[in-house]
Amino acid sequence: MRKYVIMGIQGSGKGTQSQLLETDLDLVHISVGDIFRWNVQNHTKMGAQVRRVMAAGELVGDDLVESVVRDRLTEHDWNYGFIIDGFPRNRRQAEFFLESYDIDGVIHLDLPDSEVRRRVLNRRLCGNCGINYNLIDSTPAVPGRCDVCGGELVTREDDTEEALAVRLRDYHEKTNPVLDVFRRKEYVVTVDARPAPEVVQAEIRLRLGLPSLAARDQAPDGRPGEARAPDGQREETRSA
Ligand SMILES: [Zn+2]
Repeated sequence: MRKYVIMGIQGSGKGTQSQLLETDLDLVHISVGDIFRWNVQNHTKMGAQVRRVMAAGELVGDDLVESVVRDRLTEHDWNYGFIIDGFPRNRRQAEFFLESYDIDGVIHLDLPDSEVRRRVLNRRLCGNCGINYNLIDSTPAVPGRCDVCGGELVTREDDTEEALAVRLRDYHEKTNPVLDVFRRKEYVVTVDARPAPEVVQAEIRLRLGLPSLAARDQAPDGRPGEARAPDGQREETRSA
């Protein structure tokens, strides 16, 4: 049984790396952001609660996050282990988590702020079909137009310098205390998130002593880099 926490800022490839890990290790990827998104989309009672909080411009509270994680983990469908993403969010939760579950390691995907800025500010979205583009390594054939449907490429509302600066500050403020708790236990494996996904994955496995990923053609989303921003789609219902 392997139990991991994965941490990293928006655009660091948490989603991609988690998917690559769960592929052959039979781990269950538990993403708090995905759980919230699912509930919002499926109009559950919790979804309504999340939507209300967000409509008020607030962040989903730690208590709700905690109960979501607790409920999810009691499903016990993770016979071979899990990779959790979006939790813990503070020192208290980190301590609770360490006491309750035997964590095997914390994967910390490290991406310098300058690189986050470059990746995020180069993200575009087709206003028509919703496909994500990353102008860094997948320029559309016709500038500003979607390769698939010809729709206009737009920038997401919250992908501005100002909004990003707030997210970066928020991220560091929240994450550092959590990393400190884990570091004290020497659980943290910090991996440079800048190289291609397969390279990052290989490094993670090496550092965690995991078998290397069986030869595969490409990353699950079919493109290198963060073109589809697997963990960045409307990033985690801003639950931070
Ligand atoms: Zn399109």
